[in-house]
Amino acid sequence: MDVRPFWLAGQAATGEDEIIVTSPYDDRVVGAAAVPTPEQVERAVAAADAVRRTAAALPVHTRAEALAHVSRRLAERAAEVAELISAENGKPLMWARAEVARAVSTFRFAAEETRRLGGEMMRLDTEPAGEGRLALVTRHPYGPVLGITPFNFPLNLVAHKVAPAIAVGAPVIIKPAPATPLSALLLGELLAETGLPEGMFSILPLPNERAAALVEDPRLPVVSFTGSAPVGFMIAERVPRKHVTLELGGNAAAVVLADADLEWAATRIALYANYQAGQSCIAVQRVLVQDEVYDEFADRLVAKVKALVTGDPADERTQVGPMVSEQAARRVEQWVREAVEAGGRLLAGGGRTGALVEPTVLADVPDDARVCREEVFGPVLVLRRVASVDEAFAVVNDSAYGLQAGVFTTSLATAFRAAKELEVGGVIIGDVPSYRADQMPYGGVKDSGMGREGLRSAMEDYTYPRTTVLTGL
Ligand code: NAD
Repeated sequence: MDVRPFWLAGQAATGEDEIIVTSPYDDRVVGAAAVPTPEQVERAVAAADAVRRTAAALPVHTRAEALAHVSRRLAERAAEVAELISAENGKPLMWARAEVARAVSTFRFAAEETRRLGGEMMRLDTEPAGEGRLALVTRHPYGPVLGITPFNFPLNLVAHKVAPAIAVGAPVIIKPAPATPLSALLLGELLAETGLPEGMFSILPLPNERAAALVEDPRLPVVSFTGSAPVGFMIAERVPRKHVTLELGGNAAAVVLADADLEWAATRIALYANYQAGQSCIAVQRVLVQDEVYDEFADRLVAKVKALVTGDPADERTQVGPMVSEQAARRVEQWVREAVEAGGRLLAGGGRTGALVEPTVLADVPDDARVCREEVFGPVLVLRRVASVDEAFAVVNDSAYGLQAGVFTTSLATAFRAAKELEVGGVIIGDVPSYRADQMPYGGVKDSGMGREGLRSAMEDYTYPRTTVLTGL
């Protein structure tokens, strides 16, 4: 079996144990990841700590070239990386390829953004005590970043932590999800080619229970966590003195108003409720449709959901693959059953084979059902009638989460209202909530987290402003 080494301070290494990775689709063994011993973890942290000043002083052109190198090499190896992501995660090849393309652009964009991380100069003679003084504000990394990532985008969410860390001159330690460590380890090969100083990066596949020691280590002052809300908030509570970014879950809503282009809205919602088998923090879950167009929209949507091609992720035509495990699929099946028992109507799907859940559309579900209130994280959509824009926006906001929302409308006035009233980190007008680009600050409010990703925002989160006052000018 192919056992991938982990990365200890930039060097490939093996430990005494390994994590076996299997395909969620057919349980075949895809590969294995070497697991570091506690002593090796200690060495990785010590190396990150030892290199932090050197890292912060790395010239911008060196950081930019390293990031551009990773981008180029990922593009060259795109087909192989996509196959690995698809195999370990179960996502269809078409989505795995999109993930690689996205990571290529994330590293390229980081190479550009590191050149733009300037500072600010301000005159202080706005009052008498400031006469003859000038302030320079520059940004400095707090120190090594610990990035903890989930299974659903095993390459791209690692890229979202590694790229901004290198861009600001911070060493980074990644703890990938135990179900999908292989693509992160492959990324390590490309990082190792850059010639960045020893200790600049480590990638340590560890089971959940061994991650706590890393979280609490005072030599890692920044923790950037992407994953579920309970784990994220537990981490934040444990380390109140650290700079913690939490990118957590959601139950994203799409609002379809009477003036919307219904064909476009149905096409987009059908696809983006089910892409990654619904296992995206911004997959569409709740669809709020204005009364006047509800029946027509529901017909179009159901037809499109039923037409989605589900099955083997290795098949070029497959749009919806399995969930990450049969256990996860059974949970979703149970929530759908509960919704139906509570009075919900099944308009499509509802079935399950192994880890494969049929794309499912529910209607008339009581608002307090789990498929409405919690994060389904599976290929399930809940349709709900709303009488007005007021009601639609109230329902969007009536959630413990607040990551992104989509509003299908052609009214500029309604678009501005959405921007003003929706309590979420991102409002997407004219499309699904699932849209994200690297320029955007990305993250949520309420139980969806705190802090922001997106390259610029992450670079700000990993650094602090230092003000230098020059006197006597
Ligand atoms: P998870 O919370 O189970 O695991 C995430 C990571 O945390 C994994 O690496 C896991 O090993 C680690 N972990 C688990 N217990 C830990 C502990 N006690 N201490 C330290 N680390 C620990 O999440 P998951 O099931 O892998 O991913 C799904 C979740 O991620 C969903 O809730 C989804 O919405 C969320 N997510 C959010 C975003 C975002 O950007 N907001 C993006 C993708 C996924």
